[in-house]
Amino acid sequence: MSPAARLAGLGTTIFTEMTALAERSGAINLGQGFPDTDGPAAVIEAAVAALRGGENQYAPLPGVPALREAVLEHQRGWYGLEPEDVLITFGATEAIAAALLGLCDAGDEVVVLEPYYDSYAACIAFAGAARRPVTLRPPAFEVSAEALRAAIGPRARLMLLNSPHNPTGRVLSRPELELIASACVEHDLLCVTDEVYEHLVYDGEHIPIATLPGMASRTLTISSVGKSFSFTGWKIGWCSGPAELVAATRMVKQHLTFAGGTPLQHAAAAALRLPREEVTALAGDLRAKRDQLCEGLRAAGLRPIVPAGTYFVNAEVGEDAMAFCAGLAERCGVVAIPTSVFYDDKAAARTLVRFAFCKRPEVIAEAARRLAALG
Ligand code: PMP
Ligand code: GLN
Repeated sequence: MSPAARLAGLGTTIFTEMTALAERSGAINLGQGFPDTDGPAAVIEAAVAALRGGENQYAPLPGVPALREAVLEHQRGWYGLEPEDVLITFGATEAIAAALLGLCDAGDEVVVLEPYYDSYAACIAFAGAARRPVTLRPPAFEVSAEALRAAIGPRARLMLLNSPHNPTGRVLSRPELELIASACVEHDLLCVTDEVYEHLVYDGEHIPIATLPGMASRTLTISSVGKSFSFTGWKIGWCSGPAELVAATRMVKQHLTFAGGTPLQHAAAAALRLPREEVTALAGDLRAKRDQLCEGLRAAGLRPIVPAGTYFVNAEVGEDAMAFCAGLAERCGVVAIPTSVFYDDKAAARTLVRFAFCKRPEVIAEAARRLAALG
């Protein structure tokens, strides 16, 4: 009774593993990235209204019209983008999976920044494609022209991008995005870009790669309500872009889940239509938490690399991060993730640990107090 060969090499995700460790040991969970407070009350009220208002049957395959319209308005209003089509998905995760399955053939190569979010590797493998990583090295985690050039071979089909970037917290700069965009144009690559942290930016600005010359016609842009609006349990995501790319993604989604989360789709439309000040207030709140945790890490003798976006900070721990994280719950009651699990090139981040700071200030303060015991 052996599983399919395509599962070879896939274990339990690090997120499940670390959350289970935190629950078992009673440690503070700075591993898996999820906020310990709810998103805006008005959005929850919109969900309740939809549940009570009879929005409880299948959504149309492309998503409920109110949310599809809200995504288009959001892309237009925030970035000046005019995508041809939009599809609502079961979180960004489903959009990533369906896009890779819908756009890659066996033997194609996918160029991907590493460290990468773990579902990328799995979905590239499910599509029968191969990943070609572009390694981001600490402390700057910059995209180098040489690494990019080396990763693009004759079988390259698709660039899988993520900015703001998990786990490094980098927000790619315009020159880096221009480098990537010109490589996509030169090698005629499709681009799938995961922008789930688009509103969690503290320094600099988020620039969707679809806004760069030559990119709108080859880019599928993915986001979700999970990170930017603090509803990770809702799993309402979306993708938008050229009609052909959305159609290929939709064709796969049709046979994966068809449609889901009808009332939450209505509420996600309310989230996307929140006044800008409320969206930026969420980021302001997280910026303060970033600074609080970075300070705590420094006080504990660790060396944080201050992130410009997302809700993750990486810190140099000065010893093997796998061993450090394996013992951290027992040593001081905190759980974190060794950053090397997100790399093929494990040596690139041997002593680096990722901590999530999307927690209440008192929880961060307690985690900092416990980490101080390390010194
Ligand atoms: N992409 C990245 C980079 C992530 O960190 C996550 C985790 N939220 C996802 C995608 C998944 O998003 P969702 O929860 O909307 O499926
Ligand atoms: N995106 C979250 C993180 O990086 C985890 C999502 C998951 O559990 N799959 O921590």
